[in-house]
Order: sequence, then C-alpha cells, then structure tokens
Amino acid sequence: MFVRQHFLPSALRRGPHRIGVGLALLAVCFWTSAFAAQVPLPRPRPAEAPARDVAKDEAAGPEQGVQQAEAPKPPEPSACRLALTEAVAIAPSIPPIHAEHGCGGDDLVRLEAVVVSPSQRVALKPPAILRCTMATAIANWVRDDAAPLATKLGSVLSEIDNYDSYECRGRNRIVGAKLSEHGLANALDVRGLKLANGTMLSLTDRHLARETREAVLTSVCTRFMTVLGPGSDWYHEEHIHLDLAERRNNYKICQWGVYDPLPEIAPLMPEDRPAEAPPRPATVETADKTAAPQSASEEPPAEDTDKPAAADSAKSKSKTRSSRKPQ
Ligand SMILES: [Zn+2]
Repeated sequence: MFVRQHFLPSALRRGPHRIGVGLALLAVCFWTSAFAAQVPLPRPRPAEAPARDVAKDEAAGPEQGVQQAEAPKPPEPSACRLALTEAVAIAPSIPPIHAEHGCGGDDLVRLEAVVVSPSQRVALKPPAILRCTMATAIANWVRDDAAPLATKLGSVLSEIDNYDSYECRGRNRIVGAKLSEHGLANALDVRGLKLANGTMLSLTDRHLARETREAVLTSVCTRFMTVLGPGSDWYHEEHIHLDLAERRNNYKICQWGVYDPLPEIAPLMPEDRPAEAPPRPATVETADKTAAPQSASEEPPAEDTDKPAAADSAKSKSKTRSSRKPQ
C-alpha cells in the first residue's frame, strides 16, 4: 500500500479535489497553445522604418489614415486664380457651390478688397461672392478707372457699396424667370462709391454731377457685358447691375439713363373757389365736365409729353449702346 502511493502523482496523493484542479490546468495549457498556433503575430517593425508618432496616431483614430488616402486631390488653381494675387485683390478662394436650378460655380472667391497700391485698398462692403473672372473684372475696373476718378474729384476711393453678388434666383427676382447672372456668381450690383472724405457717390442719384455718372457709365459699359441702371426697367432705379454674361457675337447690353434732377418746386395749383364767388352758370359747368376728358385724351398735359422726350435725349446722349431686351 505504501509503495503504490509513492508512485502516484502528488496531486492524486493529496485527495480527489486536487485531481480536478490539476486536470483543469492541463486543459487551459493545451487550449492556449493551440489558439496561439492559429493567430499570426505581426511581423517585427523593420529597423530602418521612421519613428512612429504615437500621440498623433492616437489623436487621428483608426479611420483617419484611410480617409486621407482616399480623399480626391484638389483641382489645380485656374489661370485666373493664379493671376488674382494679393497684389491685385484680397480675394480668398471659397469651395465650389452647386445648388439647385443650376446655381453656383467652381472657381469662386470672396472679394473683400481691391488693392490699388501698397497703401490703398478699396473694400467691398459687404464682401462679394463672385467667380474669379468677375472678381478680376471688378478689380481691374476699380484699379484703372474708379480709383483714378475719385482722385480727380480730390479724394481717395475707399469703398464699393455692394448691393448684391451671388444669389440663387431668377432675373429681377421673378420666380420661374431665366436664371440671373447673380445665380452664377457672375454679377455685382453697385449702389455707390464711397470716398475717404466720407462722400458717397450714389451712382443713380440725379444730383450727382452728370460728368461723374457719365464717366462711370463709359467705364463699366466698356468693361462689362451687361450694364443696367435707371431707365432699363423698374428694377434698377437704385443701383447699377454689372455682369459678364456670355452672348452670341459678344453682344453687349448697356442701359443706364443719366437723367437731370427733377424740378424741386411743384407747379402752383389754382386756389380753392371762394365761398362768396357767384355760382357758375349751369351750362358752363356741363360744358366743362364733358370737355375735360376729351381734351385730356387728345392732348396729354405738357409735362407728360416732355418727360419721354427729355428722357430720350438724355439716354441717347449717355448710352453707348441700347437694347430693350429684358434682363
Ligand atoms: Zn443685378
């Protein structure tokens, strides 16, 4: 009996519950070694590999590397973009806009200011969202024509009063109308030019010197494909619309009537008939009533006949080209 106990494993010799523990340990060892044999381990990092930035990897997360690899390359900057440097204008690029109704564009900028010289910038208030080509046309107009005009007037051009630039809408804000050039970021509405001395040159103000308005008109009608102002339609009485619309044969539209101020004194009206005045004969009253409409329809009042004639002469004097095509 003693001999048999001597050759048994120590676990068996110490009792039945120790036998169970021993068998469990053997099973765990066997399972661990079998699993380790199935799962491949990563190969060791090569000695020549660059040092890992552990902090950066953890901050980026596991998917960041994949996204960076798949992100499309940004398009090469256009020739316009390369030419519109900070020596010409402060006009950072903005992401393309592709909105409904065909609105938007690709090569867009936010035109914040035109650089006339290292010491002079002309701000657009507010900044204008425009295609690069339109922003360049505005910058050239300000640098070469508008700023020198302000200098001639004895001041310095400081701001362009921007009434509207990119806006996805139909022409003249009419729903269903043809898409406005504003919807293509290809148009700018200008209300006025502000000088450093505080003067605002409101371009549609009849009291602004005719020479000043005509100088601006000549300049913009030379540079832009469309110019619409007072007299073009009822939508442009308080601002000047400029755009670079493309038309067959490079056809241009320039409609801006430079009008004289309206008379400031209203015509004198006849006084009320005094109470003590004798009554009018009945026959005369009747004759007046019947005659009035007839004479009005045959011969309009003098101011009505004069108005279009004066307007036409002003238009023909000021316009470089005219068209009644609606915009
Ligand atoms: Zn406009």
